[in-house]
Amino acid sequence: MKYIDEFRDPKLARRLIAHIKRRATEPMRFMEFCGGHTHAIMRYGLRQLLPANIKMLSGPGCPVCVTSCTDLDRAIALARIPGVILTTFGDMLRVPGSDGTLSGAKAEGADVRMVYSTLDAVQCARDNPDRPVIFLGIGFETTAPTVAASILQAERAGIHNYYVFSLHKLTPPAMRAILDGGEVALSGILGPGHVTTIIGSQAWAFLPEEYGMPCAVAGFESLDILRAVAMLTDMLVEGRPAVANAYPRCVSREGNPNAQEMMYRVFQATPADWRGIGTLPESGLGLREEFDHRDAALVFPIEIGPSHEPKGCRCGDVLRGALSPTECPLFANRCTPTSPLGPCMVSSEGACAAYFTYREYKDDH
Ligand code: SF4
Repeated sequence: MKYIDEFRDPKLARRLIAHIKRRATEPMRFMEFCGGHTHAIMRYGLRQLLPANIKMLSGPGCPVCVTSCTDLDRAIALARIPGVILTTFGDMLRVPGSDGTLSGAKAEGADVRMVYSTLDAVQCARDNPDRPVIFLGIGFETTAPTVAASILQAERAGIHNYYVFSLHKLTPPAMRAILDGGEVALSGILGPGHVTTIIGSQAWAFLPEEYGMPCAVAGFESLDILRAVAMLTDMLVEGRPAVANAYPRCVSREGNPNAQEMMYRVFQATPADWRGIGTLPESGLGLREEFDHRDAALVFPIEIGPSHEPKGCRCGDVLRGALSPTECPLFANRCTPTSPLGPCMVSSEGACAAYFTYREYKDDH
């Protein structure tokens, strides 16, 4: 455990906090794009350790949470097609659509199966050659290459009954949309560590170049995040916005070219519907034409009625950083992890789940 301990060293943490306190003389508002960062910030109590004039806001970085109600309704409709096996990662099972959840559809007889990897989904197709097996593709650039690999694997192995319902999303367009919306005043962005491992830190160059906004890509240990906040603070104070890399053990400027190549061999950028943000051009990943025969959206056309968000749920506002989870009137009373009303409380990366789990009721300094 020596390696992890080094990234949680209290002495180094105190030094970084002292540095941040010394330099952050003005109010600063940083958005952590990634839900994993929201959880890490809450888990390590970093909000309480940072000076009061630094505010951390959670952003749209949870792929389960940003899946729109309409897309979720379509997934549930696919699961209800007789004979179909719908495979999904566990987080999606309890996310409420307009009229129930995947879990509810399963209880009513739909064959919905939780898998731990795309390999499991392909194996499920191999084991059930007479039935269509659909994998529900939810995730950012981190997940999409593995789903692409599963499609190529099915092609190579001649597994004809494996399909993907691709709801994958690309992160930079969402960040742009939040900044263009101008609803939330921000001073800097804590860049997502896992996503940037794939797309490379250069993918965030538009933040300083077009918006004058500093960005520091961070890992998920306490020192990773404090170091990134220190970098953001320094860039702001010195008036030199740039993309800093506080996660160099995983992130490079170019990212992972093999994963990118795999992703774009199978997928291409398409419009995508984001909960709380709306439809953004070139912000999703759809299957390329040569893989139409694997595209569940084409092979299994479905009709759904009008979708509607869970009543009273403010997830859309939370995902844009316009509302802190604790400001939602339903937080911790009608909406809890055991009885969640919205995806931000269901997902293991959701901001509401993070705030509930670490019980920070006295919000916002
Ligand atoms: Fe939605 Fe529950 Fe979060 Fe409120 S607390 S925004 S109802 S998930």
